[in-house]
Amino acid sequence: MSVEDFFRAAGVEAGYGALQVLWGVELSLRQGESVVLLGANGAGKTTLLRTLLGLVPLWRGEIRFLGRRIETWPTETRVRAGLAFMTEQGVFPNLSVEENLAVGGFHLGRTTARRRIGELYEMFADLREKRREPAANLSGGQRKLLAVAKAVVARPRLLLMDEPSAGLAPRLVGQVVEILRQLHRDGLTLFIAEQNVKFLELAQRTLVLEGGRVAFRGTVEELRENDAARKAYFGLEG
Ligand code: ATP
Repeated sequence: MSVEDFFRAAGVEAGYGALQVLWGVELSLRQGESVVLLGANGAGKTTLLRTLLGLVPLWRGEIRFLGRRIETWPTETRVRAGLAFMTEQGVFPNLSVEENLAVGGFHLGRTTARRRIGELYEMFADLREKRREPAANLSGGQRKLLAVAKAVVARPRLLLMDEPSAGLAPRLVGQVVEILRQLHRDGLTLFIAEQNVKFLELAQRTLVLEGGRVAFRGTVEELRENDAARKAYFGLEG
């Protein structure tokens, strides 16, 4: 498999009922890269991520991961193949931090999961401290970090994230960015839908969605020089 074959989606069309949201989206991710997906509210970022995971049905197009066609696979099979999705809804408030992480690693078997959770505590010191506490007791920032940690327990190859900064105080956004930087350094490929400019620090490439179509692709520098793309990404205006 070449690095180009890591992840590829072509001609992606999807929507809800009679509403078509995505119109022929092309996307390719190289192994180990970090790509930020931008676009105004309603542009279709969430729909794209959920379609790639199989949570929204694909109308037309194809999706390849690690050289294989995955668009007909159920979400669970995609996850087992190494695709992960970070969502806060995935954190169970009544379970302890450690139980949440164990859920994230349930495919791994108990011994491997325990070792992996131990490794993650090295990176997520706050979580180690609170490991016996219910997730409901965590602060907003800690809960976000738990969602990230839970998504990576099973050592996914590609992590998809939908606005990891949502609801976070600015000082905590930096903390999430730092953790993602570290995971990326360790080889994780990142595809992040974000509006927060801070996340552009992580972006080797950016993609702008507009009305369900890719309106721009390029580096952060190219984005800053492109008027239309800058307008589409409100955070960079002015
Ligand atoms: P935001 O940043 O506001 O989440 P987004 O770029 O992620 O925006 P989507 O959430 O993918 O955009 O929404 C794209 C379009 O699809 C919008 O018009 C939205 O109203 C519509 N939509 C999203 N989810 C559903 C749903 N479950 N049922 C029907 N329409 C939906």
